[in-house]
Amino acid sequence: MSKNKHPLDQCHNAWQHTDQQQKWIKQYRLPLLRVTTFVPRIMANSEVAEKIYSIAKLQVHDTLSQSNYKVIESDSFEDKDGKGLLMAISGASSTQLKRAMIKLENNHPLGPLFNFDVLNRDGKMVSRRSSEMEPRKCIICDHAASYCAASHIHSEESLEREVLQLLGRHLVSFSTKETEIA
Ligand SMILES: [Zn+2]
Repeated sequence: MSKNKHPLDQCHNAWQHTDQQQKWIKQYRLPLLRVTTFVPRIMANSEVAEKIYSIAKLQVHDTLSQSNYKVIESDSFEDKDGKGLLMAISGASSTQLKRAMIKLENNHPLGPLFNFDVLNRDGKMVSRRSSEMEPRKCIICDHAASYCAASHIHSEESLEREVLQLLGRHLVSFSTKETEIA
């Protein structure tokens, strides 16, 4: 007999399935941060997704060190949606950590493609709403990203095109800056 899954269970799969985060929550009693990318499914595990992921990781480490938040332990993982990094963080409350990560999502040119999940000391997910922040915007239009994803307003191809444009613009401005410095 197959088990009937509640639809919401699927959204929280990533959090429910790893024993490691349960272990770290028990062991450290610290907020956990999970770094992944937010790209259309057809791009998962592509070179482009990997590039975005490595930029996200660099930015996260910068943000953490600027705020004097310490990484106690970190471990990378890989699943069908791509690569990810799980970290236990000290020196910040889960709300402070979530706010710092939302700021990065909002301010970095590739922020719309970064995905940062924060778990509090009790192992509960900290949402944008509970941190009194606006929901994440769609990369194409002004709706909330969750709305566009649920209603499939944009084709995967148009999302892919937008992702490539965002990355292309960022890499061009990045190399221009480096040339100016040199
Ligand atoms: Zn949209």
